[in-house]
Amino acid sequence: MLNKKSVDDLRVKGKKVLVRCDFNVPLKDGVITDENRITAALPTIKKLIEEGAKVILCSHMGKPKGEVKPELSLAPVAKRLTEVLGKEVVFAKDDIVVGENAKNAVAKMENGDVVLLENTRFRKEETKNEDNFSKELASLADIYVNDAFGSSHRAHCSTVGVTKFVEESAVGYLMEKEIEYLGNAVNNPERPFVAILGGAKVSDKIAVINNLLEKVDTIIIGGGMAYTFLKAKGYEIGMSLLDENSVDYAKEMMEKAEKNGVKFLLPVDTVIVQEFKNDTPFKTVDASEIPSDWEGVDIGEKTREIFADALKDAKTVVWNGPMGVFEFENFAKGTIAVAKELSCIDATTIIGGGDSAAAVNNLGFGDKMSHISTGGGASLEFLEGKELPGVAAVNDK
Ligand code: AMP
Repeated sequence: MLNKKSVDDLRVKGKKVLVRCDFNVPLKDGVITDENRITAALPTIKKLIEEGAKVILCSHMGKPKGEVKPELSLAPVAKRLTEVLGKEVVFAKDDIVVGENAKNAVAKMENGDVVLLENTRFRKEETKNEDNFSKELASLADIYVNDAFGSSHRAHCSTVGVTKFVEESAVGYLMEKEIEYLGNAVNNPERPFVAILGGAKVSDKIAVINNLLEKVDTIIIGGGMAYTFLKAKGYEIGMSLLDENSVDYAKEMMEKAEKNGVKFLLPVDTVIVQEFKNDTPFKTVDASEIPSDWEGVDIGEKTREIFADALKDAKTVVWNGPMGVFEFENFAKGTIAVAKELSCIDATTIIGGGDSAAAVNNLGFGDKMSHISTGGGASLEFLEGKELPGVAAVNDK
């Protein structure tokens, strides 16, 4: 159980409550193309409105690096929130985030009103966690709620610093839900517990694999990172992705798996190409037979069957990272096969944000999963066994 104050522990009527959300949504020409993060933030916002709080929302969007980038304004989020909440969300359009517009808007708030501040990363202090901006944010509010799971692996003003300058702090419902699913999976899983890891870089997932090898019954490795493991087994991998600095580590992990009695599954066959694009000739070969001028872009059919088989009896599954270059239709088959298998097994299925979440949603399997994390980096750090700074900073119960 999370030992942090939650929204339910607060008395918020008439209080100004600053809520850090993760509204870092993808935008195309000013239109939000995936509003999962907005939907996920609604339970906390609605509860605070119902309880008569004055709700001040803040978030970052993208990486403006301390500069004002109009294309990264949160204005489209205010508009969409107004629609989905069915009540006006006043957008405080201040380049300095806590400026005259924000102060005036907050001063005018009635109980149940909602104000959204501008992109916190328009301020260079934000990512450096500098006290001056933390104090400015805190000056708007009595209470702080962190509901931005996807940003809480970073110690920034709006996720950590601000807690020092408010009377009280708590975590929001989304944060609680994320931590409950990921925390239970890692620390108290119903077994068999299977982890599936894919994506491009081994180095990003080194600590995750190491930690999960203490917890899981089976680990499945696919995607670009699998080739470093195949190399570590002594195979030639042609032009496939190789993380040279991680080969020794890959060996160590396979040894650790054996020592811990963890089943460690790697691709036995792979789809290969000579040009990195969708419309190019491809074929499937055994994982030990990749010619020198070809590269692996997806798991092969035999591997798809072996991976699906390993998932059949699983009771808890955590998945992070696609099985191939799923952005190219021809090489999405491995990722689709895993998503499909997860959608029909009787297990708690947790998708660890980022690309795998996008893949599952785009392929139409989103509603079949038990939980799709809103945080890619944050969920990985969680799976590494780390406490997230944005959670640690909140008041204990
Ligand atoms: P990550 O951010 O590490 O989870 O990596 C996700 C990216 O890995 C996606 O953009 C995939 O296209 C890419 N990827 C997956 N498999 C491969 C592969 N075999 N070769 C190159 N890139 C891959």
